[in-house]
Amino acid sequence: MGRVIAVANQKGGVAKTTSVASLGAAFVLRGLRVLLVDLDPQSSLTFSLGIDPDVVEYSISDVVRGEVDLTTARLRTSEGMDLIPSTIDLLAAEAMLLPAPQREFVVRRGLEEVLSTYDVILLDCSPSLGLLTLNALAAADEVIVPLQCEMLSHRGVGQLLDTVADVHRLLNPRLRVRGLLPTMYDKRSVHARAVLGDVKRRYRVPVLNPIPRSVKFAEAPSVGTTIIATSPSSSGARAYFRIADGLLRAWRFGGRKAAPPAAPR
Ligand code: ADP
Ligand code: MG
Repeated sequence: MGRVIAVANQKGGVAKTTSVASLGAAFVLRGLRVLLVDLDPQSSLTFSLGIDPDVVEYSISDVVRGEVDLTTARLRTSEGMDLIPSTIDLLAAEAMLLPAPQREFVVRRGLEEVLSTYDVILLDCSPSLGLLTLNALAAADEVIVPLQCEMLSHRGVGQLLDTVADVHRLLNPRLRVRGLLPTMYDKRSVHARAVLGDVKRRYRVPVLNPIPRSVKFAEAPSVGTTIIATSPSSSGARAYFRIADGLLRAWRFGGRKAAPPAAPR
């Protein structure tokens, strides 16, 4: 059965999309069958993997509306991950869901038919705590929360962890917090180190190894690939390989347990 991982933070620009694409590419190179789902109407994941949302035939919006199943909307990317693309129509599709019964389980139901054909399914959430993000959390086995180690930038994390705890209690008892993922981390910055220390003390969830700040991350999406393809031996790529390998170890050998959802201290 595929593991479903939601990558979520209602703050934009914290490297959710970069993390989904880079982890996905790293898992493919480790021999896993990987599906990525773009749940952001801004379609950054779709764009960054070299696919133009304006020309795709079907997208996650059609799946959410119940018009096609996931396998019909699925595309293969150049690095070997499958992708359910998103388009701007997803905004309207999310609004249409609001009055629907069982509206939090649309993504889960969509994924069910493909769970056995993938090892890992990564869900790239939009920068909101809206219905699609709730759908992602209701569908996920675990959640990774990328955050930037800058003052004030992790202010929303407590609220997100509260939401994760609510989803765990009300919708999805399987859901675990795999960890906070510090991104764009500059270990030479005293400030970044201080914020990382504060994050580790403040939230009762694991903190994964930081991803270093690097301009290579900005370059890769412009050619429709990830840093894993463009600069596989860069510090940024190695950091994502390390996270991917840590997850694999945890799943295979039951290594460090993901924390159950917890409220912030
Ligand atoms: P989100 O999905 O949370 O909005 P993105 O993944 O789109 O965030 O990243 C926001 C911007 O930061 C992008 O331009 C991306 O290339 C850049 N970025 C991501 N990770 C890093 C990093 N480790 N170092 C430098 N820039 C990064
Ligand atoms: Mg994004």
